[in-house]
Amino acid sequence: MDTLPSPLRQAIERLAEKRRLRQIRPITQPERPAITLQGQRVIDFCSNDYLGFSQHPAIIQASMEALAQYGTGTGGARLIGGTLDLHTELEAELCRFKGTEAALIFNSGYQANVGVLSALVARGDVIFADRLNHASLVDGAQLSRAKRIRYPHGDLATLEKRLADTPATTPKWIVTDTVFSMDGDLAPLHALYSLAERYNAWLILDEAHATGVFGPTHRSGLWETTGLGAPARVIQIGTFSKALGSFGAYVAASRDVVEALIQFSRSFIYSTSLPPSVVAANLAALRLLMSDGRYTQALWENVRTFQSAAAMQGLQLPAHSPIIPILIGDAAQAVQCAATLLEKGFYIQAIRPPTVPEGTSRLRMTLTAKHTPEQIHALATALACALGT
Ligand SMILES: *Cc1c(COP(=O)(O)O)cnc(C)c1O
Repeated sequence: MDTLPSPLRQAIERLAEKRRLRQIRPITQPERPAITLQGQRVIDFCSNDYLGFSQHPAIIQASMEALAQYGTGTGGARLIGGTLDLHTELEAELCRFKGTEAALIFNSGYQANVGVLSALVARGDVIFADRLNHASLVDGAQLSRAKRIRYPHGDLATLEKRLADTPATTPKWIVTDTVFSMDGDLAPLHALYSLAERYNAWLILDEAHATGVFGPTHRSGLWETTGLGAPARVIQIGTFSKALGSFGAYVAASRDVVEALIQFSRSFIYSTSLPPSVVAANLAALRLLMSDGRYTQALWENVRTFQSAAAMQGLQLPAHSPIIPILIGDAAQAVQCAATLLEKGFYIQAIRPPTVPEGTSRLRMTLTAKHTPEQIHALATALACALGT
């Protein structure tokens, strides 16, 4: 008997032919940046644990205490007995972090993006989305059933033209990653906000990779660098799963927007709330981040160290953020390159379509605050060798 419908089996075979099969590779002993990957001790250069918070002793301690005090699970969704004082404490802390009137926890970045777009955007509205937005924003837009216009990456002229072409009375939503997850470049937030104001549009920002990395005071994300405060029509989404080292996500916005999410966001309403150990880790991570800028500073120091080490090897690589794409183009070649680096003890994942556009397969490397200058220099040398420069 067939174990899969045949179109599905054929689709998998096609992926295999194109060398695009995704593969799960278990890690043991994650003492980042060193990890053991299928028995081999390597240095991890693809983690989003930018500040090393997943292993921070004080955060682990806070998480363990909450586990002992509250148990392993909440027993329900937020609106049905699943809200602990820890959840509301974290939401109050998020308001301070982001400088917004209100904030709401979601169970993951994926769920936040799907939940926000499907709840707030109505069928007759128009969504203007950067072509390189994260898949969860694409899925959320689809669920809203609104008209979707994808503009070329960062192309403000096209965006403006499309905004101008849309009737003034139609509600408009500009949706963008702030730090693009596979390219590491930055959305032009000042310009996007000006367009939003001019065309009476809302701005939805996904700060997943910017939280803890950008922001002069609280390190709360790229929006903080604009100094524009908390306008009513800007909705900031972020995650606890990257620089904050744990799991979960948040939306920071006006009181009215958060109220609408509580009433209508299905991924918020119909899912068991985050467990106390996770919420306590998030709270401790947020407080540490807000009170101590040294982790973020160390991260940026490492970004600069890598950029100059790469330059010494003849590699001119962009470094707008800790995410550094090394463009290869061909998928098989990218996989080969990643394999060569792995043999030398460096784990960098090759990223292929459909995660990135056709013909733009790449190595996506990330730096963290925990890498040493020696590890970074060794990587730059190995990279130059693997790329044949
Ligand atoms: C990782 C990521 C998400 C998903 O967040 P999770 O908490 O991992 O579900 C959403 N948006 C962007 C831009 C991301 O990079």
